[in-house]
Amino acid sequence: MRAFLVFLFFFIGNLKPSAVAAQDRYVLVIHGGAGTILKSKITPEQEKRYQESLEQALLAGQAILQTGGKAIDAVEAAVRVLEDNPLFNAGKGAVFTNQGKNELDAAIMNGQNLSAGAVAGVSTIRNPISAARAVMEKSEHVMLSGIGAEQFAKEMGIEMVDPSYFYTPQRWHSLEIIRQRDSLESTKKNQQPVALMETLERKKEKYGTVGAVALDMHGNLAAATSTGGMTNKKWGRIGDAPIIGAGTYANNTTAAVSCTGWGEYFIRLVMAKSICDQMEYGGKTLEEAANQLVMQKLPALGGDGGLIAVDKDGNMVMPFCTEGMYRGYIRQDSLNGPIKKETALYKN
Ligand code: ASP
Repeated sequence: MRAFLVFLFFFIGNLKPSAVAAQDRYVLVIHGGAGTILKSKITPEQEKRYQESLEQALLAGQAILQTGGKAIDAVEAAVRVLEDNPLFNAGKGAVFTNQGKNELDAAIMNGQNLSAGAVAGVSTIRNPISAARAVMEKSEHVMLSGIGAEQFAKEMGIEMVDPSYFYTPQRWHSLEIIRQRDSLESTKKNQQPVALMETLERKKEKYGTVGAVALDMHGNLAAATSTGGMTNKKWGRIGDAPIIGAGTYANNTTAAVSCTGWGEYFIRLVMAKSICDQMEYGGKTLEEAANQLVMQKLPALGGDGGLIAVDKDGNMVMPFCTEGMYRGYIRQDSLNGPIKKETALYKN
């Protein structure tokens, strides 16, 4: 009897750890925004800088995932790196509103328990994604906006900055170009000098956003998205990024999704959640659901953009219907298997 009990004790003791470490696989996918990203308009040096920046974010998340860390920590870490990088439209490098301000949106979601947090229209939080995480974990709310969100972040000990921290000359220039174009458009169209219009069109810079989705070794999914929104936005406009279900969603039973593109259309399509629902209730694979929504429904409605997603089995997708999307992934599919890593900017 005693021997049997000892055996039973041993048996149960040995079962537990393997039940917790569900898999020896992790996946991290990131994006740095979709839009007019054409090889012909980017110098080799710029391309290299983008690729190195994406890689830096991948490595920040991977450092967490490969040691058995949580998906939610990995997506926050990857997005913070992208927020701190002026190349991307999030955190430092955010685009300007019509009033010449930077108003940032961010959201994070934990697929393990469907907890979520978001901030919208904030101007003094260095890393909005960490403020979103604090909303998720330290408040009874899901979304805080403007001054209230900033007050909360400050109380939570999150790093605050002067609004001027977010200024970058290239984003200011983009605002000026768009303002010029708008004033031209409001004058007689047929008098516009063609050369100037082409320049404005070429320099048109509407989008950008950063995001990360991850599957950790415990089978948990998480998603995070952070953005400055769209250049020249007005009237306290809020995009899809901080709206749970539109630009950001994660659910362990289906997938984790982070979107980028013309936010109004992503909100109307409830993009991220629709993909998960197509999988859960429509029997679609992640690839089928994402392709249908991004490549068919989104352009059919008049919008454009892209997204990144990973499902509970580690399948990942990065569809977009714009010219390009800054993107990358890092994954390891078995304990001592090869680590696969890739970054890309253009369509092919
Ligand atoms: N989706 C973002 C927004 O509409 C912008 C972007 O992803 O580029 O605010």
